[in-house]
Amino acid sequence: MMTNLPRRALLGAASLALPVWAAPRSALAQAAPAAPPTGPHSLAPLPYAFDANEAAIDARTMELHWRFHHGAQVNNLNAALREHTALQALPLDQLIMNLNQVPDSVRTAVRNNGGGHANHTMFWQVMGGRGGEPTGTLAAAIAQDFGDIATFRTRFNAAANGVFGSGWAFVTVTREGRLAIATRPNQDNPLFDGQRVLMGNDVWEHAYYLRYQNRRAEYTANWWNVLDWSRIGARYDAARGGTLTV
Ligand code: MN
Repeated sequence: MMTNLPRRALLGAASLALPVWAAPRSALAQAAPAAPPTGPHSLAPLPYAFDANEAAIDARTMELHWRFHHGAQVNNLNAALREHTALQALPLDQLIMNLNQVPDSVRTAVRNNGGGHANHTMFWQVMGGRGGEPTGTLAAAIAQDFGDIATFRTRFNAAANGVFGSGWAFVTVTREGRLAIATRPNQDNPLFDGQRVLMGNDVWEHAYYLRYQNRRAEYTANWWNVLDWSRIGARYDAARGGTLTV
């Protein structure tokens, strides 16, 4: 113990009061595993609490899904772009709309993780509400393209329930405001084909298995109870105005 005394004296009383997280950076760096690149893409905080969607999705699933599934895709996307500075400068939608310009060596990683980052970013945005029905210009568009909201919901759920294995069901929207239902496997996104996404549901098992196990149709039926139609309506208006990204 005697050998510690001079060091403690040098640190001084103020240093001794610092909490653990304020330890010298060099000590922390040696203890931590190699960190993934921190950019250019990042995992945004959820716009609500983990339990905000309990009417359809339990809090534990929300946290695991956002923190680990989406989080890993952001880290893997940044890792794939590590040596591609020109691609790092592209906004996410521009990156995944131009996969043919991504080098072969990282194209699959960008497709899966860039697509996944876009899909989940959209997914968090359209939830956090209490369901109900759309209003305004979006309601009129649904009436024009599907007849009524019940038909729209039935057709969307049939598409979502029919996805074989892991994938997504989407509603795409044109600049003219026309709506269409689409599905994609894995983490593919309609932006790969130049189509903007109004809304979409994740039907990978990780999205619902803790509460619903194999009962995907129960999950897709309940999902409508947590949609935020004001946010989806804003996405619709942005799509028509040419400002919707992912
Ligand atoms: Mn997911």
